[in-house]
Amino acid sequence: MIIKPESLPGDVRREADVVVIGSGAGGGPIAKELAEAGYSVVVIEEGGHFTREDFDFRAADAFTRLYRDASQTVALGLPAIVVPQGKTVGGTTTVNSGTCLRIPRHVLKRWHLEHGLKDIGEDELNLLYAALEEYLFVKRADPEVAGKNNLLFLEHAGKLGYSGGFLPRNAKDCEGFGVCAYGCPSGAKQSANVSFIPDAVAAGADVYTHCRAERILVRNGRATGVRGHFTDPRTGARTQRLEVHASVVVLSAGAIQTPSMLMHNRICLSSGWVGENLSIHPCGATLALMPEVVGNPKGIPQSTYVDEFAPEGIMLEGVTLPPAVMAITLPWGGRRHAETMRDYPFIASYGSMISEHDSAGKVVAGPSARQPLTFYNLGREDLDRLKRSILLMAEIWFAAGAKRVYTPIDGFKELSGPRDFMRLSRARLKRASVYGLSAYHPMGTCRMGSDPYASVVKSTCETWEVENLFICDASVLPTSLGVNPQLTIMALAMRTAGFIDEKLESAPTKGEEAGRLERLRARLRSEKEAVARRLSGESTPR
Ligand SMILES: Cc1cc2nc3c(=O)[nH]c(=O)nc-3n(C[C@H](O)[C@H](O)[C@H](O)COP(=O)(O)OP(=O)(O)OC[C@H]3O[C@@H](n4cnc5c(N)ncnc54)[C@H](O)[C@@H]3O)c2cc1C
Ligand code: SF4
Repeated sequence: MIIKPESLPGDVRREADVVVIGSGAGGGPIAKELAEAGYSVVVIEEGGHFTREDFDFRAADAFTRLYRDASQTVALGLPAIVVPQGKTVGGTTTVNSGTCLRIPRHVLKRWHLEHGLKDIGEDELNLLYAALEEYLFVKRADPEVAGKNNLLFLEHAGKLGYSGGFLPRNAKDCEGFGVCAYGCPSGAKQSANVSFIPDAVAAGADVYTHCRAERILVRNGRATGVRGHFTDPRTGARTQRLEVHASVVVLSAGAIQTPSMLMHNRICLSSGWVGENLSIHPCGATLALMPEVVGNPKGIPQSTYVDEFAPEGIMLEGVTLPPAVMAITLPWGGRRHAETMRDYPFIASYGSMISEHDSAGKVVAGPSARQPLTFYNLGREDLDRLKRSILLMAEIWFAAGAKRVYTPIDGFKELSGPRDFMRLSRARLKRASVYGLSAYHPMGTCRMGSDPYASVVKSTCETWEVENLFICDASVLPTSLGVNPQLTIMALAMRTAGFIDEKLESAPTKGEEAGRLERLRARLRSEKEAVARRLSGESTPR
């Protein structure tokens, strides 16, 4: 059942086999798999529950109802970067673009070699991907509804010899309404709010909405439940309390909230990696003034890609902005702003996504668990690749006949032709001169690995420190992925559901319990010794 706070007579205190915090790309599949396996599952979701009838094409409504911080969560640093996150049933999948890509081979190899994750085999992942693609109706975007904006870019990239194509998406019979980021009004997009969560509920799971988990209950080194509170959907004020006792706790609150929760609960911190290792795939966007009407925002916002430069860590993917959003992203005010907005029907757009090499980010505890602080600095190499991606997009737009290309680089806001293009390509940029950057894929802040001193979770996604506490979201991805991450998060969640199932099936007898406690004591002893070694300078290399 989906349970709203207004339907509850008072505080909630109950038991379950599994309690899952968050209902997005990680939490949704875990809840479904385990509910369908016959376990009693409770999902706690901070955001509200909405259906397709609630999605009304209005960006401002969507930002306030479906996103954390009205979509303006910022990673502080040089430059400051907006990192929007969903806060609703379905998590960020409810507002994402629906692109479903598998992990690139070289990235998985890096996980094997650098993070000791050899047991996450390519064959196993491929089986999980295939099952998910079938379940989510993943197929290439239909050119009929791909949108002129995306088609123009792909066509002219192809004429320049750059490889690309139509993106695989989880939108069944997509009608190209162009508003994926505001909730799909046709119900085509198979985000967790229309796929995993309804199926979990059909199998008996309960989903508490407008409910924020605060405390992870731990006894004798083992997770035993979650405590939290409901909020008034209108005022945000705290209302009833909730306490769920469970055999397994799954933390799937996303790569920014999950480490914050661990920090505020003071658990799993001994490796020193909680909150560290943040990557986000920084994104740049270009706008292009075309000689013909482009038809934005109609058509799938992200239907095509150019992957010619993926080996360099640059992916180009479609993006469209409705007028209200373009209005706030333009770098001008006054008459210039009004004139550009008047040109809206002729303005095309496309985006780039950088897979990080030398940028560094982290999440640290803020004044409350709800308000962590996120820091991120773009590295020199990544800045150069961001500039290159903008030049590549400009090249393609000019090849398509653009009169002008607008960029997010101070001093080069408008490129009018080859001379400006050359000027930008020769410029050595400062980090402070790029503005208006955004990023949609925070990852890595509770990374997975084979070394308990260099990672937060094992390859099963169970934390090294607290037994029966699993983390299942973007925070476990150990490196920048280079492609949109939702399918990989879902695949890992399904894999983890298998381990949880095994664990619950073999609940220990009293004798085994005593052995477990002995093992725990031994582990804590060796952890203490390792901490002492690290303090004395013999630290494990990072
Ligand atoms: C606009 C946009 C477009 C995107 N497009 C794509 C795309 O096309 N393809 C792709 O692969 N990826 C895309 N992404 C990224 C993708 O959606 C995310 O990487 C993915 O959803 C992350 O999954 P998650 O489980 O880590 O977190 P989420 O899906 O964000 O789920 C976390 C959930 O936990 C809840 N939560 C947090 N803290 C608490 C708490 N204390 N108590 C209770 N609940 C809590 C949140 O409210 C949220 O609902 C996009 C992202 C954005 C913002
Ligand atoms: S383009 Fe429209 S119909 Fe298609 S998935 Fe996005 S919002 Fe839904």
